[in-house]
Amino acid sequence: MKFGTYFAYWEREWDADYASYCEKAAGLGFDVLEVAAGGLAQRTDAELFDIKRAAQENGVEITACIGLPPQYNTASADEGVRRAGVEYLKRIMDAMYKVDSHILGGIIYAYWPCDYNQPVDKERAREAAVRSMREAADTAESLDIVLAMETVNRFEQYIINSAEEAVEFVKEIGKENAKVMLDSFHMNIEEDGLGEAIRRTGNSLGHFHIGEGNRKVPGKGHMPWAEMGAALREAGYDGAVVMEPFVKMGGTVGSDIKVWRDLSEGAGVEQMDEDIREALRFVKKQFVE
Ligand code: MN
Repeated sequence: MKFGTYFAYWEREWDADYASYCEKAAGLGFDVLEVAAGGLAQRTDAELFDIKRAAQENGVEITACIGLPPQYNTASADEGVRRAGVEYLKRIMDAMYKVDSHILGGIIYAYWPCDYNQPVDKERAREAAVRSMREAADTAESLDIVLAMETVNRFEQYIINSAEEAVEFVKEIGKENAKVMLDSFHMNIEEDGLGEAIRRTGNSLGHFHIGEGNRKVPGKGHMPWAEMGAALREAGYDGAVVMEPFVKMGGTVGSDIKVWRDLSEGAGVEQMDEDIREALRFVKKQFVE
């Protein structure tokens, strides 16, 4: 297993200086830095080259993640929107290739966050999502990229809420590089048991997000870390385990994630660094030993 963190722990906006976060992540002991895929897609080739070099120099791998915005909803009933979503994923993957990144995770099979003022037609949306993911998977394969379908809680999307649904979904896509992505924060809401859900996913698991139930760094809450670790080892998981803590209010990140109180206990940057360094020690102990 490789261990990583999402850059947005320290940021209030989704776009940031990813090259400098390569150095920061490496300095804290991480093997992987996860960035916002949409941020990569906006960058020039020269900027992407700088990120790639920073990753290489610091010995970190880059993974990318996105919840697609509504205009790129790959599960849309509007064929024009659906197509635009697939094309956007191709632009993202092109940028990922340029920074040598091989995992694209998140809500790439629909859009995020779901607008529940619109009527829900799960069967229709799921069918469009499968079609879009088959198309995207072909481009991904040519660029050596795995598409990881993030299984999220019911308040954020409805197409895949459980590991069971996710396994079924990727089976239907039927592509080697279409995998399941789990996230302990969402699993805590939807699954009967976290270890059981990981075992059920087995070798379909392609990417894993971790955090406590309130999105604090691992080790500060009640998540069953030892149980998750045992299940990951049993499943033979050797992919990336990426922390996705959100503890600060403010900015687009704070409002998108709905952080309405300071979950960091007033921590400054140095304390936040120390908290996540400690969380990495904790998770490695639970997952590897
Ligand atoms: Mn996540």
